[in-house]
Amino acid sequence: MPKEVFGRDFQFLPRSELLTFEEIVRLARVFAREGVSKLRITGGEPLLRRELERLVDMLARIPGIEDIALTTNGALLPARARALADAGLRRVTVSLDALDDATFGAMNDVAFPVARVLDAIDAAAEAGLAPVKINMVVRRGVNDHCVLPMAERFRNSAHILRMIEFMDVGTTNGWVREDVVPAAEIKQRIGAIWPLRALGPGYPGEVASRFAYVDGGGEIGLIASVTEPFCGGCTRARLSADGRLHTCLFGAAGHDLRALLRDGAGDEEIAARVRAIWTARADRYSELRASRASPPPRVEMSYIGG
Ligand code: SF4
Repeated sequence: MPKEVFGRDFQFLPRSELLTFEEIVRLARVFAREGVSKLRITGGEPLLRRELERLVDMLARIPGIEDIALTTNGALLPARARALADAGLRRVTVSLDALDDATFGAMNDVAFPVARVLDAIDAAAEAGLAPVKINMVVRRGVNDHCVLPMAERFRNSAHILRMIEFMDVGTTNGWVREDVVPAAEIKQRIGAIWPLRALGPGYPGEVASRFAYVDGGGEIGLIASVTEPFCGGCTRARLSADGRLHTCLFGAAGHDLRALLRDGAGDEEIAARVRAIWTARADRYSELRASRASPPPRVEMSYIGG
């Protein structure tokens, strides 16, 4: 959420337009009955939502939900990791793009130091939210000099570092194709120092290609969303804070489920709508980008989460 856009005078959504916890849980119940078993809470920054532990607790009680994860910048995690784990959170993914404060700040525009994120990773692991996944977006000329230091820092740890190609999420991150460091190049750079061997996907539809360090230094993931798009195996639906269902990370046009909820629709009616949306979906934004076709308009990342 760049400060130039979301400054002091920015008019955020009034609370009444956000889904309540009860509404989120009701939709999650419908999704679970339709076959969803994994939930990931994203943002913006999800730990800014008051009483998030209560939401996690409510979601964890839904029959069929086997896994609840959270993506966070880590700033507020140290004080809350234990309570979140107690509420039923299973895993966290923490964003960390560099190990030095200057590069980290250049990538993220946040006002806290790297040490705080490292504390968050430790706190999450101590709370049992393991293995902690660490997401590093790699942007040429900004933080690609950090690829090897980051790999070294998290080798031989219990955590899993995942390096992600810089994507055109939203319209405010100044994406140009030249800034993308292809996953193949990242793999070559790391493998030249610490040889890697490919591992199979951990589960169907996993977006990261997994590699093990041949010397036993653990695992690393590469996410080639720009150079090797995986739209064909994409199984993720996203629900925005104001109740719109997006069937693609880049899809600007979500489907309004909040109106259905607030107009008194029953669970079966909502389920039918979700089924209709999902079965009609034909999203392939990253494939269109890769083929240099003109992709459709994008939604902002801060709105839809990762
Ligand atoms: S671009 Fe859209 S459809 Fe393709 S993998 Fe990403 S979220 Fe899924």
